[in-house]
Amino acid sequence: MSSVQVGKFPSASTPGKYYTVSKDSAGVIWCDCWAWRKNRTCSHKKSVEHQLHMQSVPTDGTGGVAVKERKMTIQEAIDRAVAEMKGS
Ligand SMILES: [Zn+2]
Repeated sequence: MSSVQVGKFPSASTPGKYYTVSKDSAGVIWCDCWAWRKNRTCSHKKSVEHQLHMQSVPTDGTGGVAVKERKMTIQEAIDRAVAEMKGS
């Protein structure tokens, strides 16, 4: 089984100790802290999942407006803004 280390977090209670978060070939994220062993989830895992999510999903800022505007080229956006200024 191959896995890659995706995060390393210093222990809050034990100085010098680190918890390692890894992701295996099946995409399962696991951690070696006690919370993960007990609950199969922990703050380290959640933090890593959040980071992976941020990387895989491009953020387009704000909701519906951004999606609509994204189809315009910059020049079209400029032209439209100029036209709106002239029109008003
Ligand atoms: Zn953990």
